[in-house]
Amino acid sequence: MELKPDILHALRSDFPILAEKVGSKALVYFDNAATTQKPRCVVEKISEGYYRFNANIHRGVHHLSRLATEAHEAARRRAASFLNAARPEEIIFTRGTTEAINLLAFSFGEAYCRPGDEIVITEMEHHANIVPWQMLCERKGLTLRVIPIRDDGSLNLEAAAALLNERSRLLAVTHVSNVLGTINPIVELVRMAHDAGAAVLVDGAQAVAHLTVDVQALDVDFYTFSSHKVYGPTGIGILYGKAQWLDALPPYQGGGEMISKVSFEQTTYNEIPFKFEAGTPDYIGSTALAEALRYLQDFGIKRAAAHEDALLRYATEAMEAEIPNLRIFGKAPQKSAVLSFLIGKLHPYDLGMLLDSQGFALRSGHHCAQPLMQRLGLEGCLRASFAFYNSREEIDQFIPALKKALPLLDG
Ligand code: PLP
Repeated sequence: MELKPDILHALRSDFPILAEKVGSKALVYFDNAATTQKPRCVVEKISEGYYRFNANIHRGVHHLSRLATEAHEAARRRAASFLNAARPEEIIFTRGTTEAINLLAFSFGEAYCRPGDEIVITEMEHHANIVPWQMLCERKGLTLRVIPIRDDGSLNLEAAAALLNERSRLLAVTHVSNVLGTINPIVELVRMAHDAGAAVLVDGAQAVAHLTVDVQALDVDFYTFSSHKVYGPTGIGILYGKAQWLDALPPYQGGGEMISKVSFEQTTYNEIPFKFEAGTPDYIGSTALAEALRYLQDFGIKRAAAHEDALLRYATEAMEAEIPNLRIFGKAPQKSAVLSFLIGKLHPYDLGMLLDSQGFALRSGHHCAQPLMQRLGLEGCLRASFAFYNSREEIDQFIPALKKALPLLDG
């Protein structure tokens, strides 16, 4: 269900950037899968951190250090409750999804992978959930197996069942595809992987702003997301891991904070989560991320998602009705607010630039999913991705803007 106009108006006024202009045109921001805009409270939290409690954490006994440490650990508790983790120690702060996956590929790879083992991913993964596993495979002599997609953009679950076997060490799968919008059936995939004896990492980069995630109900071993895709600041993200895994895994980076005792002969490591957080963490970023999660939870993720789903349906129907030679990529029955498309032979960059000249921010290109583009037989496409602050009016403006581009490019 769409948000009522007065609620949407109030919501939009929390995001000052939405009132910006592109030249003389009003900005219409449809690039939310790349990064989301930030509400005022998140930006203010960053200033407040630097103005009021900036001090290095965990090590100091002084007042400011205590404040900063408490803010950082409160952020960890907020992230834990956001994902319904059993314990805050199961939350590791990283620089984002990419770093979280690299951390796991290194650490899990060191401890649990032997030549001949297999890592299973899917055809719809972002490069961040492909390349670190390829690097691990090369380092350790493993094989990368890929679950194919069906033509509608859903995952081929029969193929998944056939691919997972006693050699599979880990299944790394996206919760929501950043190109197709497909919402993958995580519970079912986890069951299949666990039956085969494999652990599961879910890339939640595109999920957390749109779905309520409960890592215990999903029974995932690891889950990751980036703050900037859920209305938080850039440069910080989360890796969730079940405590029994995190306790068992070796550290990824060495340095301050991750140690228990250091001598030149031998070093012992700190407990989780600190074992995985070498160096000064981004305690300002973590606090601002917690504020973003609070903001979204207070608004209601289900309420936000219902609005986004309504926009997705409305935009899909309007485009299909009004735009000739339209091809939409991703028509899975379970789909989140991403609309990837091409129009005839129009080049996605040309169309993207023409839309930009009318104030519309869309992403054009391969969306860091080149293997998926190859599967779809494309070099790239355009992607409109919606957030809860987008409106039906913006889509009503988008259709004529798209139409305007057609004759310009034909000629
Ligand atoms: N995974 C998916 C599905 C994504 O959409 C993205 C970003 O676009 C990433 C991983 C990487 O996220 P980040 O660049 O924030 O590390």
